[in-house]
Amino acid sequence: MDRTDFEVIIIGGGIAGASLAYFLSQKGVSDIALLEREPQHGYHSTGRSAASLVEWDPIASVQQLKAIGGKFLRNPPAGFCENPLLLPSQVMLLYRGAMLGDFDATLGTLSRDGVEFAPLSHSEAIARVPALDLGGSDRAILLSADGRIDVHELLTGYLRSARHAGADIRVSTEVRGLVTDGERCVGALTDAGMLTAKWIVDAAGAWGGLVAKLANAAPIRLEPRRRTIVIFDPPSDLDVRAWPFVISEADQVYFSPESGGLLLSPMDQIPIEPCDAQPDDEIIAAAIERLRSLAPRLVPRALKRRWAGLRTFSPDSVPVVGPDPRVKGFFWLTGQAGFGIESSPAIGRIAADLIVDGSTDVFDASILSPARFFEK
Ligand SMILES: Cc1cc2nc3c(=O)[nH]c(=O)nc-3n(C[C@H](O)[C@H](O)[C@H](O)COP(=O)(O)OP(=O)(O)OC[C@H]3O[C@@H](n4cnc5c(N)ncnc54)[C@H](O)[C@@H]3O)c2cc1C
Repeated sequence: MDRTDFEVIIIGGGIAGASLAYFLSQKGVSDIALLEREPQHGYHSTGRSAASLVEWDPIASVQQLKAIGGKFLRNPPAGFCENPLLLPSQVMLLYRGAMLGDFDATLGTLSRDGVEFAPLSHSEAIARVPALDLGGSDRAILLSADGRIDVHELLTGYLRSARHAGADIRVSTEVRGLVTDGERCVGALTDAGMLTAKWIVDAAGAWGGLVAKLANAAPIRLEPRRRTIVIFDPPSDLDVRAWPFVISEADQVYFSPESGGLLLSPMDQIPIEPCDAQPDDEIIAAAIERLRSLAPRLVPRALKRRWAGLRTFSPDSVPVVGPDPRVKGFFWLTGQAGFGIESSPAIGRIAADLIVDGSTDVFDASILSPARFFEK
């Protein structure tokens, strides 16, 4: 007979929920239900990302979360996965136009934070990616130990370990309501009936705000924003396989080798209601025009694939992780924006520490606390 009472119920089977289930089980908590509405894990944002580890962010706390994540991805625990989690194919940040002014400050921050990097002249950048049409004053920074994450391997590793430890991991199970008893959230109404727990965790990604409303939790505005990715073939005379992941904020595009072809994102961030996001042709066309001025030889004749996903932002663009200040037993694990995969080893561990111990020595948890939006 299926269990109905748990220590922790996690709503959402993307990377956030899966990483929490893993880190809880590492702390000896296996009395967990992980509930995913879709028939497969990672169907929404997690399965649609660009899968990059980029240990640079203008928000210092986010950069720190990425760096903690990077350590795990480079050196996962023995037996966690069958294949490497990180392909260290490198990341190249381009500085041109209005972004040139940020170059020196970025170098300073990367040195301070111990990120492995090398500053590049425009000709050194072109030597690595010959299709780039850079001017003499353009610069680049190579993040030499970063690259592409095997998201499937990471997600599977989290889920496999948690299941092995005894977690009850369910798909096609939607949470439709939350039950409160006085000031405490005590249960979830699901397709499979009522489930109760000491902690109910909101790891519902773009639906995080809606789930919080079900519990009458503190009103924190979470904004899902759509982002698009397309895949196309490069010109036949260009071997792109050894290229780094190239990001140009000035041109608002990033591109990377992907299964023999190229992946390109318009870096769009259109606010949108939570949904099964679909790509927009106008946004793709505008991005291809911007690619024309950065790397004209790469402009594709046809696209092989296109998709879109949602990145969910809190009001200060820092994740919301911790107990709700209003409703006891309700725990937020949301707002991972565009870095939820690479930071999942950090955020999952922090959340597990907070649930089990009430504190963590990994990170200053007050930066992530939902209570920060209500303090004067
Ligand atoms: C185009 C794109 C590129 C990106 N690139 C990167 C990148 O390079 N590196 C990086 O680290 N991050 C990247 N991200 C961000 C990353 O994908 C997200 O931060 C991360 O996947 C968020 O994970 P999540 O588990 O919170 O959300 P999701 O993966 O969306 O999981 C939430 C789950 O909750 C489920 N759910 C919702 N409501 C309910 C309910 N009521 N009952 C049961 N289940 C429910 C949903 O079905 C969903 O599966 C990118 C995102 C996009 C869209």
